[in-house]
Amino acid sequence: NAKQKVRSDERSKAAFEKAKQLIPGGVNSPVRAFKSVGLTPVYVDRAAGSRVYDIDGNSYIDYVLSWGPLIMGHAHPEVVEALKRTAERGTSFGAPTELETTMAELVVERMPSVDIVRMVNSGTEATMSALRLARGYTKRQKILKFEGSYHGHADSLLIKAGSGVATLGLPDSPGVPESVAAHTITVPYNDLESVKIAFERFGEEIACVIVEPIAGNMGVVPPLPGFLTGLREVTNRYGSLLIFDEVMTGFRVHYNSAQGLYGVTPDLTCMGKVIGGGLPVGAYGGKREIMEMMAPSGPIYQAGTLSGNPLAMAAGYTTLKLLTPEVYEKLERLAVRLHQGLEQNARKYGIPCTINRVGSMVCPFFTDTHVINYDTAKQADLDQFKAVFASLLNQGISIAPSQFEGLFVSAVHTEEDIDQTIAAHELALSRL
Ligand code: PMP
Repeated sequence: NAKQKVRSDERSKAAFEKAKQLIPGGVNSPVRAFKSVGLTPVYVDRAAGSRVYDIDGNSYIDYVLSWGPLIMGHAHPEVVEALKRTAERGTSFGAPTELETTMAELVVERMPSVDIVRMVNSGTEATMSALRLARGYTKRQKILKFEGSYHGHADSLLIKAGSGVATLGLPDSPGVPESVAAHTITVPYNDLESVKIAFERFGEEIACVIVEPIAGNMGVVPPLPGFLTGLREVTNRYGSLLIFDEVMTGFRVHYNSAQGLYGVTPDLTCMGKVIGGGLPVGAYGGKREIMEMMAPSGPIYQAGTLSGNPLAMAAGYTTLKLLTPEVYEKLERLAVRLHQGLEQNARKYGIPCTINRVGSMVCPFFTDTHVINYDTAKQADLDQFKAVFASLLNQGISIAPSQFEGLFVSAVHTEEDIDQTIAAHELALSRL
């Protein structure tokens, strides 16, 4: 066994202490604090390609990629160039630009169910706006979501949520009015029977079903065969809208996103992450007749001072243009290599492990249970996750600090990066 070098983190520790005095919990988004893994967060100095460099001089092969957006890696030269070129001409106008239409055209071309699209500034804004639209359009109040799914932090959606909410074990957030929460129905992911029962009871009151077509906030959980088509049928039957939250899966799992991969057509789609190329962007779009209900063409209101921001559009457009079908083939190849390597390591050391993967979203769960929903995801051994996370970090491999998040592979990871990761994982497992 190679000796594990001790990683220095004095500067990160000092930076975190100072930040805690000035920022709640020291961070601007909870999971960044590394609370659930009991470590000091790594303070980033800079990043390039597949690597992140911290302020203590350590480098990491990065599978967080800003929680998904950086599918072409950090500081991709073409994205940086587009940003520079755009910034020189002004960073925000609060007036329309042709670039917004160019971007909309590209999204409409690539996202099969989207006829027309509105840009916002985050995934949270996208889902919040899509919900308002679904409610306004159907004149119904209830929504149905799945346990362990995360759709951003809007009140209606912060019920039995995944992601950081799951990581920190906070199933329901204080501050969400009971009167709002009462309109949210939650059922287990991949459980079409429960969906049908909910519809038998409340069908005429349900405005929409919102679903991650591949759940990515309870680890990675693919839809079981028939689940998404079943949701399409039930929502059609009751006149409810089907919303795909493709904030994570959009332009990540396939050239035409999860809806292209599975051939299911939602009424509305929420986007974020990759579509912004690392800048703050979200979007929602779908059927023309429904989307035209938004102001100013319709009566349902939603707006944004910085929406369609030129820098965000430039980074997103450049990223989407780089994502050719060949790039998705490369992502698949790299992700399969990682998947197989991790699986072999687990087998070698007899560690219970189930690896769920769709395209470049990979999640090794520390359990031999077939993970199909939040309850089965929760069977993973979190102590083992914690130990492996810490060991990987010490060996220069950065993954999300939670069992309930997957690893993201980028198109600029190399086979050597993947092999180095597999070797580090082997050493980590050998010490469990
Ligand atoms: N929906 C999904 C599926 C997500 O994964 C996320 C963020 N992880 C969001 C919505 C919220 O996006 P944002 O953090 O940009 O508000």
